Amino acid sequence: MSEEKIIEDVIILGTGPAGLTAALYAARADLHPLVLTGTEVGGQAALTDRIENYPGFPEGVGGTELAELFQKNAERFGARLEYDAATEVNLSQSPYLVKTYSKKFLAKTLILTTGARSNKLGIPGENEFRGRGVSYCATCDGWFFKEKKVAVVGGGDSALEEAIFLTRYATAVTLIHRRDTLRAGAILQKRANDNPRIRFVWDTVITDIEGVDGVAKIRLKNVKDSKESEMDIDGVFVFIGHTPNTELFQSQLELDEKGYIVVDNRFRTKIPGVFAAGEVCDPHYRQVVTSAGMGAAAAIEATRFLENN
Ligand code: NAP
Repeated sequence: MSEEKIIEDVIILGTGPAGLTAALYAARADLHPLVLTGTEVGGQAALTDRIENYPGFPEGVGGTELAELFQKNAERFGARLEYDAATEVNLSQSPYLVKTYSKKFLAKTLILTTGARSNKLGIPGENEFRGRGVSYCATCDGWFFKEKKVAVVGGGDSALEEAIFLTRYATAVTLIHRRDTLRAGAILQKRANDNPRIRFVWDTVITDIEGVDGVAKIRLKNVKDSKESEMDIDGVFVFIGHTPNTELFQSQLELDEKGYIVVDNRFRTKIPGVFAAGEVCDPHYRQVVTSAGMGAAAAIEATRFLENN
C-alpha cells in the first residue's frame, strides 16, 4: 500500500449529489479536493430513471445524466476523482487518515457523503434470488422483466415511482404494502392509481420468495387477518427505505439510533474539521436538491475551517 506524504486540504468521501456538490464548492475555493468515489459514482440519484424535481430541468433529467453533469462541473474547477473506496478512516489523529483498497491519504478536513443503501426484507429467498428476480433498482433491472409480472414492496415515494417505471416493461405490477395507506406523495399516488398496469395488495407482507433458476412464486400474509396466500410472479422489487453507510465511522463519530451521522446546523460533526452532508446525515429529506445543498454548505464550512485553523 503506497504511503501518502502529501496532506490534502480536503478529502470528500462519496460521489452522490452531496459529494459532487461539495467537490464543486471546494474546488472553486481553490482547495483541489480529492474525491474518493466509492463503489458507485453518482450515488443513488444516478440509479434513478428520471428526476423531475431538481430545479432548472422543467422537462426532467435522467439520473445518470445529472450525475455526469455534477461530475463534469466539479472536475472543471479542479476536483480530482480517485476511483477507489475508503476501507478505513482514523479520526483520532490529525491530519485524518483515510485508507482505501490501494492507498493511504491524509487530510486536514473531511467531508463525509457516503449516502445510504437499500433496506432488505430479510425473508427466505431474498438473498438466494438477488440478481435472479429480486432487485432493489428498477432502472437497473426493469428491462429484464419485459412482458413479465412483477411485485413491488413498499408504500413510499420510491415504491410508487419505481412501480410506475416498471409498467414500461412488465405487463402487470402488483404493489404490496403492509398497511392500507400509502406514505407516498399525492402526485405519485394519483399516477399509480391511474395506471392500468398497477394493482395494490394492502395490509400484506411477503413471507417467502421461491423459484428454481429465478423467482417464480411469492408467499403472502395478510397482517390483519393472518390469511396466507401465494402469487406467481417473475420478479420482486423491494423499496422499503434505507440504511446509512456509516460503518466506517462507528465508535468515532456520534450516530443517531438509526446510524445516521449527527451534525449541527452547519454540518459539523463532533470532530473539528470533519463534516457530513447528504443522506448519510439526513433521514428526513433525501432529495437530490437537499443533498446538493448540504454538500455546498459543508464545503463552505470546510473552507472557513481551513482559513481559521
Ligand atoms: P420511505 O418513505 O421510508 O418508505 C418506505 C416504505 O417501505 C414505507 O411505506 C414502509 O411502510 C415500507 N416498509 C418499511 N419497512 C418494511 C418492511 N420490513 N416490510 C414491508 N414494508 C416496509 O422510503 P422511500 O420510499 O425510499 O423514500 C425515502 C425518502 O426519499 C422519502 O423522504 C421520500 O419522500 C424521498 N423520495 C422522494 C422521491 C420523489 O420526490 N420523487 C422519490 C423517491 C424517494 P410504512 O409506510 O408502513 O412505514
